[in-house]
Amino acid sequence: MAAKKRSEMGIKHEFKSYRDITPMHVSLGNMLHNKTGGWRFIKPIYEDKIPACQNACPAGNDIEGWVKLLNNKEYEKAYWHLKREEPFPAILGRVCFKFCEDACNRTVLDDCIQIKELERFVGDQFAPATPHPELPDYNGQSDKIRSLAVVGSGPSGMSVAYFARLLGFRVTIFDKEALLGGILRLGIPNYRLPRQVVASEFEGLSLMGVELRPNTEIGKDIPLETLTQTFDYVFLATGAHRSIQMELTANISCCQIMSAMTILKQVARGETVALGKRVAVIGGGNTAIDAARTAIRMGCHVTVIYRRSLTEMPAHPEEVREAQEEGVIFRFLAAPEDITINADTTIENLVCCEMELGPTDESGRCRPIRKEGVTFDVPADTILIAIGENPDFDYLGRRVCSTDTIIRTGDDLAILSDHPDGAKVFAGGDMIDIPHTVVHAVASGKKAAIAMDCDRRGIAFSDVLNQIRIGSGDALSFSRYMNWAPVNPVLQNDQKVVDSTKIVYDYFIKMPGCEKTIQPADLRKDSFEPYHSTLSVEEALHETERCMHCGRCTECDNCLIFCPDVSILDQTRETFGYAIDYDYCKGCGICLTECPRHAITMVAEG
Ligand SMILES: Cc1cc2nc3c(=O)[nH]c(=O)nc-3n(C[C@H](O)[C@H](O)[C@H](O)COP(=O)(O)OP(=O)(O)OC[C@H]3O[C@@H](n4cnc5c(N)ncnc54)[C@H](O)[C@@H]3O)c2cc1C
Ligand code: SF4
Ligand code: SF4
Repeated sequence: MAAKKRSEMGIKHEFKSYRDITPMHVSLGNMLHNKTGGWRFIKPIYEDKIPACQNACPAGNDIEGWVKLLNNKEYEKAYWHLKREEPFPAILGRVCFKFCEDACNRTVLDDCIQIKELERFVGDQFAPATPHPELPDYNGQSDKIRSLAVVGSGPSGMSVAYFARLLGFRVTIFDKEALLGGILRLGIPNYRLPRQVVASEFEGLSLMGVELRPNTEIGKDIPLETLTQTFDYVFLATGAHRSIQMELTANISCCQIMSAMTILKQVARGETVALGKRVAVIGGGNTAIDAARTAIRMGCHVTVIYRRSLTEMPAHPEEVREAQEEGVIFRFLAAPEDITINADTTIENLVCCEMELGPTDESGRCRPIRKEGVTFDVPADTILIAIGENPDFDYLGRRVCSTDTIIRTGDDLAILSDHPDGAKVFAGGDMIDIPHTVVHAVASGKKAAIAMDCDRRGIAFSDVLNQIRIGSGDALSFSRYMNWAPVNPVLQNDQKVVDSTKIVYDYFIKMPGCEKTIQPADLRKDSFEPYHSTLSVEEALHETERCMHCGRCTECDNCLIFCPDVSILDQTRETFGYAIDYDYCKGCGICLTECPRHAITMVAEG
């Protein structure tokens, strides 16, 4: 619901002379003897709350906190504050689907704060190798050190390694690939996420003391049992890399029909890929769009065939728009029906049929239904299949409880196991039942690290969970777990969310966000180089100026000015915020009404 401004609701009073003003009593003496605080049955308190943006970020990123530091030009502090909850800002600042921006309260006024771009700006300021100010030392506590083996170096594996290392674990990451980073390195193309950005995060992890073991496949080079017998904890983060096959192609032998994921990996490894001139991509997710844009950059004419409409497409709308600008043709409401192959095993023809949308299915989207007899040909030298990926559980043997597509875990992400011998095994990222995004994978790594630490300390994770959960979703605060001080040294309420209904928009003026610097499509479509630059210092500071600091006191003085009982007391420069003189505060709540950002709460007296 759009919040209504008071100027839109207000009644105008016009006074022609002072006689029109209601007479009032004025005391010429001192009224301090009249302690009006005694009339009160509710009282205001200063209480910082969770802004809508932080509530929407699956990693519980304290956006307002580091934006404030950034606005003060305290760049290094902002960087480390950001990394308290979200360890890889240069990565997420490039590829996150920005759930925070969709929720940003500023949207009601003009446009959301460009949080993802700011995150990228902060992440790019410092090399991840900069020594971590909070890194614990192993010296003198060897009896308390626990070891953790991480299987898979994608974002969930990187995240659990980062947080577990901060908790004092000795961590080793194993990956079967020579190039570390999972999908970040082998799936998402360089033009969206430069290789160097991912590689430098591994330099950072390595300098924190995390041991990196590339080229080591668990289940082949080392059996999983060896890890469970030699480490105290094991975290499985092997993602979902097994491409789902299309029934239509099951009996066709043609080397020009390939999984889109395979092509992305080949390009990332620098291998030679021959696609021909015309490429058809089947599917509508991230893999389909990245494969289509990769093929465009290889000079191909590309058609994406998706069986539902644009609205139902799982790929991010921004990616789809950019792909369209680069020349990718989209055939929505279409599905492959027949593929004919020439004698030399090249593709002769791809026949597609038109679809229409039927009633909603179990995925919550409209079911695509074939339109009888309406077909068309799509010329194609190569067909790339991108209809989804499932995890590969072969290396687990029969140890764990899983369906075909996910591993079942408890609330603490410990896997439900048939044979609980040796190490406790946890899992995260795309192999468990969470949305397949980088930030969800990072959040699962954080959660598992905290759960393992609780286990090591012999405390119940379920009790801790209630103390560190932020807002109304599943996000957890690592800062709260570590008892790190917030930016504003005032009472924190981690459960109350400040959404747009709580903001007094009259106190904010319109200020448009800065324009994104993005290369035109005709230039970027010929190159694998990044096409989108990081904000300049001026642009970043402009965006921080726009932040309304929802739910957080900024010492704006509104409460001080408006209090009719002069009960708000300004403090010394050294002490943040205000004090309330409860001898005279009547609990009228004017301070709450006039606080632009809802940083005051009225609580029952007593
Ligand atoms: C093409 C593509 C583009 C995407 N784009 C985005 C995007 O822009 N934004 C976004 O938020 N999300 C995006 N996603 C989704 C996101 O990348 C995933 O949700 C995320 O990478 C999952 O992380 P993960 O750690 O679970 O696994 P992964 O990133 O898949 O990493 C798993 C790692 O485990 C290793 N491994 C597997 N088996 C073994 C074994 N037996 N032994 C040792 N190592 C093993 C693999 O080599 C791999 O390195 C995209 C996905 C794809 C496929
Ligand atoms: S990680 Fe994603 S959702 Fe969270 S603050 Fe950054 S851009 Fe927003
Ligand atoms: S205005 Fe600032 S604090 Fe408020 S929701 Fe947007 S980014 Fe968050």
